[in-house]
Amino acid sequence: MSCAPNLIDSHGRTISYLRISVTDRCDLRCRYCMAEHMTFLPKAAVLSLDEMAIIAERFIARGIRKIRLTGGEPLVRRDVGQLVRRLGHHVGHGLDELTMTTNGNHLVEHSAALVDAGMRRINVSLDTRDPALFRHITRHGDVARVIGGIFAARDAGLRVKINMVALKGQNDREIGSMLAWCRDEGLDLTLIETMPLGAIDEDRTDRFVPLGAVLDELKAEFPLVRDTHDSGGPARYWRIDGSDTRLGLISPLTANFCSTCNRVRLTTEGILYTCLGHDDQVDLKTILRVQGVAGLDAALDAAMGSKPLAHEFDIAAAAPAVSRHMSVTGG
Ligand code: SAM
Ligand code: SF4
Repeated sequence: MSCAPNLIDSHGRTISYLRISVTDRCDLRCRYCMAEHMTFLPKAAVLSLDEMAIIAERFIARGIRKIRLTGGEPLVRRDVGQLVRRLGHHVGHGLDELTMTTNGNHLVEHSAALVDAGMRRINVSLDTRDPALFRHITRHGDVARVIGGIFAARDAGLRVKINMVALKGQNDREIGSMLAWCRDEGLDLTLIETMPLGAIDEDRTDRFVPLGAVLDELKAEFPLVRDTHDSGGPARYWRIDGSDTRLGLISPLTANFCSTCNRVRLTTEGILYTCLGHDDQVDLKTILRVQGVAGLDAALDAAMGSKPLAHEFDIAAAAPAVSRHMSVTGG
């Protein structure tokens, strides 16, 4: 293991969390995330799984303690299990946690292997339990299949956190019942404000729900106590008293927590973004292919120098804050 120094950005924040977008492709088309007809990267433009692992291992050597595999839909990438197993070997040896965000469509087949590889927690997106609304939001998803995947993951031993993007006029009246369901099923719930990332076929402003008001309503219905759990990210947490269920709120539009940001993101193309809401980037794929692993350290140090202090999301702006979709950067 190298004794290269940990990654600290120019604002003094220690960077200990890497998200990897394993693929920009997906088998769903959630309306707030993607346009119906998306153009995906040609296969030749993306990192091989081996290159992804090499870059991730360099990050681990530089003090990254947590890696989340995401996308796109990570479980649609062929042979993704190879990457999971390889990175899983680092859990307990440099890495505290390897985790994943998935749409749940393929969890029945994959859950046991994720646990075997050392994964203990995953996030699964579920914006509604209503079959017709789920099909509408995802354009063609089957909610029964996703819920089956969630239960398969839980029963295989994974702690499951549900990600629910709050959408005005769609699922906003369902948030209380989703939290009650999570409590009854032994799941956690994180609510997310819709973010202006990438062009979609509708106007996100029409769907935006500020989560502060939602929290007030939930407090009237559930005994919520503040939870000190801190992922070093944008989420704030509560717990339902008397249960294990934790409620998280990711509200980047109405409550900015960038000052404690500890994360960077690697795209499937090998581009490192130091902020979800900015275009500052370093092309690690080219550096790896031209200079080899030896070139990565200087590139990571340079990236630390340019990590922005904060995002500048404005849901009412005419254009998205950045043109790339969440599925490209890795949500
Ligand atoms: N396909 C996987 C999934 O859906 O969980 C992983 C990738 S997805 C981009 C990661 C998370 O980002 C999901 O919870 C999704 O709901 C959320 N997301 C996607 N686009 C978003 C947006 N514009 N604003 C807020 N959240 C978004
Ligand atoms: Fe696919 Fe996830 Fe985006 Fe939905 S949110 S389209 S499942 S990448």
